[in-house]
Amino acid sequence: MMEQKYKRVLIKLSGEALGENGRLFDFDQIDRVAAVIREVHEMQAEIAIVIGAGNIWRGRQGPAAKMGAVTADHMGMLGTMINSLAMQDALERQGIQTRLQTAIEMTRFAEPYTYRRAMRHLEKGRVVLFACGTGNPFFSTDTAAALRAVEIGADAILLAKNIDGVYDDDPRQNPEAKLLKDITYAEAQQRGLRVMDAAAITICMENKVPAIRVFGLDDPENILRVMQGDGMGTLVHP
Ligand code: UDP
Repeated sequence: MMEQKYKRVLIKLSGEALGENGRLFDFDQIDRVAAVIREVHEMQAEIAIVIGAGNIWRGRQGPAAKMGAVTADHMGMLGTMINSLAMQDALERQGIQTRLQTAIEMTRFAEPYTYRRAMRHLEKGRVVLFACGTGNPFFSTDTAAALRAVEIGADAILLAKNIDGVYDDDPRQNPEAKLLKDITYAEAQQRGLRVMDAAAITICMENKVPAIRVFGLDDPENILRVMQGDGMGTLVHP
């Protein structure tokens, strides 16, 4: 068995990192991610997954901007369900037992989110996917990841993004922007660093989530490397 840094993790997959250049889904990437999660699962790690919907819909951008915010966010939450179903299917094709729980009831698709059931699934070695974010408009899937990580007592949030860490400025606009290797929640908040949104950082800070590791999902093997203790990207901590 491989060396393992965390026992119970919450993996947050950004929707954008699962799509491809305007295409809704990059199915090869989804399968690569699922294959790596199987390897992590084989390390006896307990795994929960929260997926975004940026590849499908964002409640405040593009055509959503002129909509009523609540309805636009409902569409975003449904987007996370679509991504979660795709990932559940990919994981099952890897031979992994999964359970999909949703913050918005859709009982034909998924179990309603229940804390005790989620814990039971994790203890039994099932990968649990949490769909529909927090179930509330005006929140993000990052906030859902923070909330569920606190609830299940995760040792770490693995924040897999389409960028390789947290920078002191937007690297797409400022070529001088520097990657930060290690920051505290308070620093992230004070400096307005875009790790997660402010609500998510507050939840992690107040509840002392031991670690968030932010890294790029461009190479899905990064998930495995991080689980083995690789210090890539950015560590955010109390
Ligand atoms: N969303 C929401 N409540 C939640 C989580 C998500 O209303 O608790 C909606 C919101 O419209 C958001 C969209 O779902 O823009 C997609 O989630 P997010 O932007 O977090 O996805 P990501 O950036 O991780 O792909």
